[in-house]
Amino acid sequence: MSNDIKTQVVVLGAGPGGYSAAFRAADLGLDVVLVESRKTLGGVCLNVGCIPSKALLHVAKVIDDAAAMASHGVTFGAPKIDLDKIRDWKESVIGQLTGGLGGMAKARKVKTVFGYGKFTSDKTIEVEGEDGKSTITFDNAIIAAGSSVVDLPFIPKDDPRVIDSTGALELKDVPEEMLVLGGGIIGLEMGTVYKALGSNVSVVEFADQLVPAADKDIVKVYTNYNKKKFNIMLSTKVVAVDAKDDGLYVTFEGKNAPEGQVRYDKILVAVGRKPNGHLVAADKAGVNVDERGFINVTNELRTNVNHIFAIGDVVGQPMLAHKAVHEAHVAAEVIAGKKHVFDPRCIPSIAYTDPEMAWVGVTEREAKEQGLNIEVANFPWAASGRAIASARTEGKTKMIFEKETGRVLGGAIVGINAGEMLGEICLAVEMGADAEDVALTIHAHPTLNESIGVAAEIFEGSVTDLP
Ligand code: FAD
Repeated sequence: MSNDIKTQVVVLGAGPGGYSAAFRAADLGLDVVLVESRKTLGGVCLNVGCIPSKALLHVAKVIDDAAAMASHGVTFGAPKIDLDKIRDWKESVIGQLTGGLGGMAKARKVKTVFGYGKFTSDKTIEVEGEDGKSTITFDNAIIAAGSSVVDLPFIPKDDPRVIDSTGALELKDVPEEMLVLGGGIIGLEMGTVYKALGSNVSVVEFADQLVPAADKDIVKVYTNYNKKKFNIMLSTKVVAVDAKDDGLYVTFEGKNAPEGQVRYDKILVAVGRKPNGHLVAADKAGVNVDERGFINVTNELRTNVNHIFAIGDVVGQPMLAHKAVHEAHVAAEVIAGKKHVFDPRCIPSIAYTDPEMAWVGVTEREAKEQGLNIEVANFPWAASGRAIASARTEGKTKMIFEKETGRVLGGAIVGINAGEMLGEICLAVEMGADAEDVALTIHAHPTLNESIGVAAEIFEGSVTDLP
């Protein structure tokens, strides 16, 4: 069956970027078609990314917190793991959110077309779906095709014991020995889940620190806290994997490489994601895609073809859902004739690990590379009443100020709830707040957030009482 559709706006891909663009465009009175190759809306984030990983991290946190209570006089005993039920819980979380998006699309009269879409010209997209072919003729298009996992040439591809983040989230089993290849955010989050469920987890990272994008001192706190939990091999790489019947035998090279081959039951490959720019036949519309698959855009999110926009992972780093959503709003508003550009001062990054690592704005390393005249104020949580009462004093709050003016340029937090706390620093950076603004803001006691206020007081040289 062939279906011809005419629309003012077609959005290719229904991840956080795509559905946000479609909804904003519809709210602004435009006629919108949303094309998605999965069976549900929500993209990587809702189906196989942000949300399912957080559902499983919640399970891991409860297990770990319960175990830690033994030293405070409450013993729960060993957890009984029912993988089917954990999977059901995770699926119910996904279903609730993706189903909600379906309802929101309907309420806005956004037409959804399920199937794989490709440009056939700069005015048409053809979609191949279960219900046949659709040809969509559009005035404007927004490419929100997202990204895919990167795989490595020397790792067996069709062996079910080698998994990527999507495979890890499927939670088919809990392997006894698991190797996480790549010490970035996704690898560490999934490692946290499997460790809590009972796996012995090793992490191998080519760089000399985990989460290379974050400042060393922040990551050091995480690494020290977890050095007994995980076998962490920094400055080391995997050079070969020999798949045998009784396991995957891995050869390492580098500073902390173990001798000979090491056997694992499962390997999680988490070495990054690549943009899907080459998968939408962009050339048929005359849209330039670089050799890596990224699509270059202006600050209005326009590609080199004026009426075709691109947003989200497919336009560049950081590949994060909240960046995609904000870009989406700009693209939709520009199409609707509003004046708007994407020009944030900062985009927050969070590793939802234990402890969490969160940073925003300029890092200390970046500030040094850029020759900025900064002053750093650190507040160690060993002096925080709330951290002490929670038995989690390993954390710290770090604020980066412009030395001359005291303006907040960035900040980083490592510790429990760091991700939730970071919002205040985001707001400070985005609004151009200075240390005095933050220091004079009364932070409730006893909270971990007080540490942000105290860090600002440290910069001001006016710390009166530590919480
Ligand atoms: P995507 O979410 O990738 O969506 C693109 C959609 O387009 C997909 O559904 C795809 O099927 C569809 N599509 C592609 N091409 C076509 C086509 N030709 N026709 C039709 N449909 C097409 N980010 C965070 O901010 N916080 C987190 O905690 C976080 N956790 C993550 C955990 C994991 C395990 C992973 C893998 C990622 C995580 N991310 C997180 C990253 C986040 O998922 C992405 O940045 C975000 O989903 C990008 O949104 P997007 O709209 O650009 O693309």
